[in-house]
Amino acid sequence: MTEQKSFFDTKIEYLKGLGPQRAELLNTELSIFTYGDLIQYYPFRYDDRTRFYTINELDESLPSAQIRGRLRDWVVEGEGSKKRIIANFTDGTGTMQLVWFQGLTWLEKSLRPNGEYVAYGKPQGFNGRYSIVHPELDPVGPAMELETGMQPVYNLTDKLRKRKLDSKVISRAVRSLLESSWQHIHETLPAELIEKYRLISKAEALWNIHIPQNQAWLKQAMRRLKFEELFYNQLRLISNKLLQKEEFPGAIFKNTSLLKHFYEHLLPFPLTGAQQRVLREIYTDCNTGKQMNRLLQGDVGSGKTIVAFISMLLAIANGAQACMMAPTEILADQHYNGLKDFAEAMGLKIGILTGSTNKKKRVVLHEELQSGKMHILIGTHALLEDAVQFRNLGLCIIDEQHRFGVAQRAKMWAKNPVVPPHILVMTATPIPRTLAMTLYGNLDLSIIDELPAGRKPIKTVHKYDKHRAEVFGFMRTELEKGRQVYVVYPLIEESEKLDYKDLMDGFESIQRAFPRPKYEVGMLHGKMLPYEKDDEMQRFLKRETQILVATTVIEVGVNVPNASVMVIESAERFGLSQLHQLRGRVGRGADQSYCILMTGYKLSTDTRTRLETMVRTNNGFEIADVDLQLRGPGDLTGTAQSGIMDLMIADLAKDGAVLTAARESAQQILDLDPHLVLPQHTPIRNHLDRLKNRKDNNWSRIS
Ligand code: ADP
Ligand code: MG
Repeated sequence: MTEQKSFFDTKIEYLKGLGPQRAELLNTELSIFTYGDLIQYYPFRYDDRTRFYTINELDESLPSAQIRGRLRDWVVEGEGSKKRIIANFTDGTGTMQLVWFQGLTWLEKSLRPNGEYVAYGKPQGFNGRYSIVHPELDPVGPAMELETGMQPVYNLTDKLRKRKLDSKVISRAVRSLLESSWQHIHETLPAELIEKYRLISKAEALWNIHIPQNQAWLKQAMRRLKFEELFYNQLRLISNKLLQKEEFPGAIFKNTSLLKHFYEHLLPFPLTGAQQRVLREIYTDCNTGKQMNRLLQGDVGSGKTIVAFISMLLAIANGAQACMMAPTEILADQHYNGLKDFAEAMGLKIGILTGSTNKKKRVVLHEELQSGKMHILIGTHALLEDAVQFRNLGLCIIDEQHRFGVAQRAKMWAKNPVVPPHILVMTATPIPRTLAMTLYGNLDLSIIDELPAGRKPIKTVHKYDKHRAEVFGFMRTELEKGRQVYVVYPLIEESEKLDYKDLMDGFESIQRAFPRPKYEVGMLHGKMLPYEKDDEMQRFLKRETQILVATTVIEVGVNVPNASVMVIESAERFGLSQLHQLRGRVGRGADQSYCILMTGYKLSTDTRTRLETMVRTNNGFEIADVDLQLRGPGDLTGTAQSGIMDLMIADLAKDGAVLTAARESAQQILDLDPHLVLPQHTPIRNHLDRLKNRKDNNWSRIS
């Protein structure tokens, strides 16, 4: 153990054949300091030089290919930055083109007409002809060292490349390290897991990730290292969660009298199976004597609010108070208005606190919260203020979690100095389970995966801008039926001025197409004052306006069941989850609803995928999966702080199956032995500690 530690802590300066200068470059450019750092600096791809392809075998799906052939001739085309060399390259099975945009002067001097070369790169097809842009080109000659096998390619910086410290140098250094470290590499996974998942050993994995014998070994090496990484990652998350549970007590809510009353007399519809299941999960949590920390994921319109309300009744029946925090005033108002009648029918006092609540009202509110007269408080961030104190806060619900940070959640905990309140976080931005497990590893997860019965799926179409007249015609038909329409414009801060102009122009053109007195068009955007927004929203809700032209301020939560058409302008500028949220504003009533995505003609492949996904499915989890594939986990909200960015080899967008297996294994081990004190778990415990230390060291290096 100690031996292993000292060996992999050796500074890379001492590595044979590397030397102090290169070592220093690796220190400063790639933060590689020790043998351990170097051996874990995995290649990001591999050049497959295990075989040659012929031109007639080429295929666009190949990530790269090497071809041996003759350079027949070449031409120089274009001017300025478009100037390029196009060469015809032939191998007897066909002809392809090699194209260069840079280094032209040198190339023209050194290319040999009719010379024999090996070209290597990514083949691209066009009209049945293949080309490689900027291929690697090596002349075939007696002195040629033909590259063979799978060549590792490491991430490099420009500075490293300039100093000729390339993938080959790193590869040689790693090889020499591997050769001398064979007996120092110890297994880090328990034998039973290795056996169960048929993993290769740590030493084999490290060799094959850097110097793969072939594709099959490379695959096994990756699988093994990903499993290990995710296993320890999950072990850490789950054990933190267990510790948190041990540490924080929670109030016990046994009494269900108010729930019974509500079910028997007030519940307007039968709960879906999923809603019932989640309520059972919450009830169980609130009876363990430990604090609940639960994330409730449910697609837009899946009925999270009623679940929240019933949970509040549970708290109140047991002598506690409840609060619900929403990200915007519009949404807080809506929750308040939606729940007021229920609460009052139950004889409960409910209040609302937002930025626009005046001082006089606040004083009363604070008083009623402290005396316990107020049972339920709905509000915005204003709830977090220190002046807001409860007599006995038992449950805190946070709606649309992606707008709140961990610090704010902690503030909520402190609102009950005796026992921290149970916490229920609700989000309508579904994230794939794999990601949720990691991102919110310290929360328990509930999912509402079922929509209330009788909902008609929203019909979604994609239309080009030039078909606007047709879209207006469709809007008219729906308006004739008494329905209402949202028209949404993007508003992205960098181009704010332009966006406002678009919004205003759009508003005017809609007013022209839908003139008074027959139609009333409203407008809602973020620059309006809270009461103005509220008025505008109320007018739409009361059907005084039929069309609401808005920015994404309506993205979260607003509920106008009579609105059946959502037109999204410049839909190419929205992300998938945003489009899905916006679409969720319709389809809330009994009528067939529609979502129309408007775009120009020029669309990137990713944008097309986004639009096609929206047209194809209404399922938020499916959409979240596509989003994850397109953007990768790093771009999703909240990932930066979660530690998942520390993953070196696993990719949460792709390694769902490995993650599930790793998580299950970690869970089983911790179920048996939460503190990893059993002798058979000592190696796991030690490795976990080592990882923690290494991380602390890395942090101190960076800061
Ligand atoms: P979200 O999960 O997006 O917050 P809401 O809680 O706003 O969804 O619910 C959307 C609509 O569905 C509301 O009008 C609500 O009254 C209704 N609803 C909720 N649960 C059911 C159910 N079990 N059956 C029928 N309608 C329901
Ligand atoms: Mg909601």
